[in-house]
Formats: sequence, structure tokens, C-alpha cells
Amino acid sequence: MQASVPDQLHLLDLQEIDTEIARLRHAASSLPELAELAVARKEHQAVSQELVAAETQVSDLELAERKAEEDVVPVRERLARDERQVADGSVTDPKALSGLLGEIEHLKKRIGDLEDAQLEVMERLEAARSAAETAAAEKARIAADGRRLTATRNEKAAAFADQVSQQEAARGELVGALPTDLLALYERIRTKNGGVGAALLQRGRCGGCTLQLTNEEMSRIRATGADELVRCPECDRILVRTAESGL
Ligand SMILES: [Zn+2]
Repeated sequence: MQASVPDQLHLLDLQEIDTEIARLRHAASSLPELAELAVARKEHQAVSQELVAAETQVSDLELAERKAEEDVVPVRERLARDERQVADGSVTDPKALSGLLGEIEHLKKRIGDLEDAQLEVMERLEAARSAAETAAAEKARIAADGRRLTATRNEKAAAFADQVSQQEAARGELVGALPTDLLALYERIRTKNGGVGAALLQRGRCGGCTLQLTNEEMSRIRATGADELVRCPECDRILVRTAESGL
């Protein structure tokens, strides 16, 4: 393919811009904040589940605490009634009195057991409340981290997008001045060659694949007209000749 020397040199400028755009896009998609946000999202999900579990336990234990309080009420009432009966001397039969005193002993022990159970529930409730508070604080902390990371990510992404659009504007100008067939060839090679379509031939070495050309190949290039496109025999990329080419 024929291409004027200035157009061939413009291909190198275009390549530089395309390489920079690719670098910017890669940097934007591999921001450390993206990985940190993914971790934060997982942590937030885990701590949210912990919080739900702790809150469920708190409400279960609150229910158990109320029940423990209620359980002891009728036993205390019965004890009070029995004690009144003993005190007012209304039970005179020794056998009945002995039975009543036995029941009082039994009721006192029962109350003690119920109070122990109530105390245990209260202790567990306190621990569950404390776990729920810790989980809630942790959840809030992770959410705040997430908001900060998101803001930083957005800021950096916007800066990259800004740079990309600047490069794209420069690219647009360059592309507008290039012949369409040359541009199409460049794009085709660039697409199948990892984003590099044109490279400088520098001291006999292809800037695309770094192959050192043989003397025979260099002689062939030397004999090729300046307006004729040269391609790398190894990677097929367009080789642009300058004073640095070693020809
Ligand atoms: Zn090459």
C-alpha cells in the first residue's frame, strides 16, 4: 500500500494516542478502590447477617425474660397465701400445718430456681444486646468506608474519563487527516495484534514485536520507496521508517 511519509509518521502519533487510551482504560478498570469495594461489600453482607441474627436473639431473649418474670408471679402469690395461713393460725390440724410448711419450703426452692433461670436469661440478653450493638457499629463503619471508597473511585474514574476524552479528541483530529484505506489497515492490524498496529523501525528492530531484522530484510526495506508501506516480516505490523531506523 502507498502512503505518504507524513501520513506514515502520523500513524506513529496515532499509535501513541491509542496506546495511551488503552493504558488509561486499563488503569480505570483496575483501580485499587474497585477491589477494596468488593471486599467491603462482602464484609457488609456478612456483618448485616450477623446483626440480623443478634437482633433475632435479642427479641427471643426479651420474650424469654418476660416469660421468666411471669412464671414466678403465681408461685410468689401462693407462697404469700400459705405464709398468711400459717401466720393467722387458721390451720390448726398438725398434719395439715406440717403439709403447709412443707409446701412453703418447696415453693421457696421453686422461686429460687425460677429466679436463677431469670438471671441467666438476663445475662444472655445482655450479651446478645452487646453483640447486636457491636455488629451495628461495625456495619456503620463498613458502610462509611464504602461511601468513602465510592467517592474516591468516582473521582479517579472521572479523571481517567477526562484524560481519555482529551486523547480521543486528539485522535479524532489525527484520524480525520489520514487516508481511509491506510486507517482501515492500521485498525485491522491493531485489532489482531494486541492494540499495536504501527511501530517504529528502530536500529533494525521492530518496535512492535522487538524482532531484529536480518541484513537481507533491511536491504529489502532500503530498496522500498519512501511512499510504500513496510510491514514487519514477523508480526505483520506497519513499520514506520525514520532517521533512527538504521537504514
Ligand atoms: Zn514486528
